[in-house]
Amino acid sequence: MILRPLAALAAIVSAASATSSATVSDGHQEPTCALELVVLGAGQDAGAPQLGNPLDEAPPLLPTALGIVDRAAGQRYLFEATPAITEQVHALDRIEAGDASTPGSLGLDAVFVTHAHIGHYLGLAQFGVESAGADGQRVFAMPRMAQFLRVNGPWSQLVEFGNIDLVELADEQPVKLSDNFSVTPMRVPHRDEYSETVGFQMSSTGKRVVFIPDLDSWDEWEEMSGDSLEALIARVDFAFVDATFFDDNELPGRDMSAIPHPRVSSTMERLAHLPEAERAKVHFIHYNHTNPIREPQSAESALVAERGFHVARRGDRHCLVDGVVADR
Ligand SMILES: [Zn+2]
Ligand SMILES: [Zn+2]
Repeated sequence: MILRPLAALAAIVSAASATSSATVSDGHQEPTCALELVVLGAGQDAGAPQLGNPLDEAPPLLPTALGIVDRAAGQRYLFEATPAITEQVHALDRIEAGDASTPGSLGLDAVFVTHAHIGHYLGLAQFGVESAGADGQRVFAMPRMAQFLRVNGPWSQLVEFGNIDLVELADEQPVKLSDNFSVTPMRVPHRDEYSETVGFQMSSTGKRVVFIPDLDSWDEWEEMSGDSLEALIARVDFAFVDATFFDDNELPGRDMSAIPHPRVSSTMERLAHLPEAERAKVHFIHYNHTNPIREPQSAESALVAERGFHVARRGDRHCLVDGVVADR
């Protein structure tokens, strides 16, 4: 199914019930979700199995990425260009193929990257001449990240050859992508060797999302932003947050006190006082290959569920704007 642009949001008829179970009322309307979020990967940068570690029976853990299908606007957006970008864009294609009719287009209307660590941007290389040979693929990045790409090979060649079209973001400044979807970057504390690090807030005419896959600590973020984690969660419907490590016992033989990242156990503790509906907004993502929540059957995964939180899993789909896209 090729995604075609529609004139306006007026083309969306709100569905009274969950879109997946909506009844097709006539031959010209198709029940669907007007704006959908897809989890394309939920692992830390290197995924699993990791180099130097044995192959195991578990399904591969892909680095964290989210896809957005904006059916109302006929667009698709990708959050993070991971080393697994080829597989992740295929996964998005299986849900909704993009309009790739223009030569050099991959049917991705915008790619957003949070920072210059391997799991978050190495996939940009696939837009180059050795691979897809994209033509003007829009890539949104913060100014330091954009400069890093412009002046360092092999990324500079993507810019020089026009494979990517870098668009600079500004902290807390929204980017409107369609009538029903906009994205706002927010700085977060992280080890910023080559770039700033951001999370993204996604606003829609329906549900709102915050995506912060990588940060050093919530305390530092609160100090830096003047915001609070509880207030942030209150403003959204889905909070995809850093779950790199479960607790301090995870890396045997290593003193983890010097290793940043909020632990899943401490984030759950911190938010334990929130009402059930608030806790249910939290989806833990960007887990390290050592994190036991990687395994859905683990005691730690059960504990996350018991405490009222979620573990994001590759393949999860969440409808942000219910609707029936008409006249297809
Ligand atoms: Zn990362
Ligand atoms: Zn990082």
